[in-house]
Amino acid sequence: MENYLSTEFRRATPLFLEEARAKGRYRTAQRVFETLTPEQVVDEVKNSGLRGRGGAWFPTGIKWSFMPKEPLKGPSYLVINADEGEPGTFKDRQIMEKDPHLLLEGILIGSFAIRAETAFLYIRGEYKLAHDTLAQAIAELEAAGILGDAAFGTKRKMRIVLHRGAGAYICGEETALLNSLEGRRGEPRPKPPFPAVWGAFGRPTSVNNVETLANVPAILEKGAAWYKSAGTAQAPGHLLFGVSGAVERPGCFELPLGTTARELVERWAGGVKGGRRMKAFIPGGASTGFLPPDRLDVPMDPESLRKEGTMLGTGGIIVIPEGVEIVDAARVFSRFFRHETCGQCSPCREGSAWSDQVVGRFQRGEGRTEDFVLLDAIMRGSKQRTICVFPEAFAGPLGSAVKHFKDDLMAVSARRAAADAGSGAAAHGTASHG
Ligand code: SF4
Repeated sequence: MENYLSTEFRRATPLFLEEARAKGRYRTAQRVFETLTPEQVVDEVKNSGLRGRGGAWFPTGIKWSFMPKEPLKGPSYLVINADEGEPGTFKDRQIMEKDPHLLLEGILIGSFAIRAETAFLYIRGEYKLAHDTLAQAIAELEAAGILGDAAFGTKRKMRIVLHRGAGAYICGEETALLNSLEGRRGEPRPKPPFPAVWGAFGRPTSVNNVETLANVPAILEKGAAWYKSAGTAQAPGHLLFGVSGAVERPGCFELPLGTTARELVERWAGGVKGGRRMKAFIPGGASTGFLPPDRLDVPMDPESLRKEGTMLGTGGIIVIPEGVEIVDAARVFSRFFRHETCGQCSPCREGSAWSDQVVGRFQRGEGRTEDFVLLDAIMRGSKQRTICVFPEAFAGPLGSAVKHFKDDLMAVSARRAAADAGSGAAAHGTASHG
């Protein structure tokens, strides 16, 4: 299957409307608006097996089928989650900065499928260039009459509203994002009710990721059978894999789901930087945790990685070379998650703080074997007792560090303790002689 997501990624400037239309953009959306019904669009996406690319991997067509089918007294909404905050993840940004009309065409088709006339595009506050690029692309669509009171000359109204986030990781969680969009604190809501029943401004809402929607035009153009010819049986299609950290050529690579991490790191990203050995890799963003290099041949798809006790997440691989200690990398993440908990639930608020303190002990050379039991108790005690799944995010790096690198954590702690004792003795000796 040829690439269909990253065809414009090598451009210096974004693909704007005139050139985009010359390349065929919006032909599929126009055909959808003029000749298909919402049910036909939902069925095609269901048949394709497209699953959400934001990290949860829920089937998109099924999510859309939860939306009301009968005309309602009020509006339904499509909300686009462009709050790409998972460390190691930068795929949605590529789409928005280089090929904004690929996303906007997907938004038009998605809105049609769920009978929404307004789409809210919630974009991460730090993504200024992507925001400005999208603002220009949306203005182009309004001027061309593709957005407005008669989209594509049909009776259907369509508008897209850009909304900038204020920089909180938790606003990537769909209900926190909805609160933030409404001007409230960005805190997750208890579910149920799910957004399809009670979403943005109390109306039925589907929240979809940027890359998910960017898949939709190709599915409607070429069909579900074409889409299923790449990827795995349970996770078809291509994914934009990010590869960052200590590699020769960090970047975003479009490849079929099920490609191995070894192929991504060694072939596409040029291997570990400077010819060093790999200490560990993170398969799908910070919350998916560390894997040792002997897992590099595991296929990068949700099912295969689940068997390894981790997740595909956002497909953002981070490579950690020999010479970097796992405890130091784990501490970066434990601090991050401690800072980003919204604080509503005690097990998450306290658990993220306590686990950061325990990792800090190992980092300072004060780790004890009983700390592993304590970490395990904190992580088990905070999972599934909270409003959202945030505790699973902070348990990812910490649990995997304990599972795969326990001896390493103890050895580094012992080495640092010995070094501290040595430097203390030296300081004492110097003082005595002085
Ligand atoms: Fe907030 Fe954590 Fe509770 Fe999620 S689990 S709502 S992030 S305190």
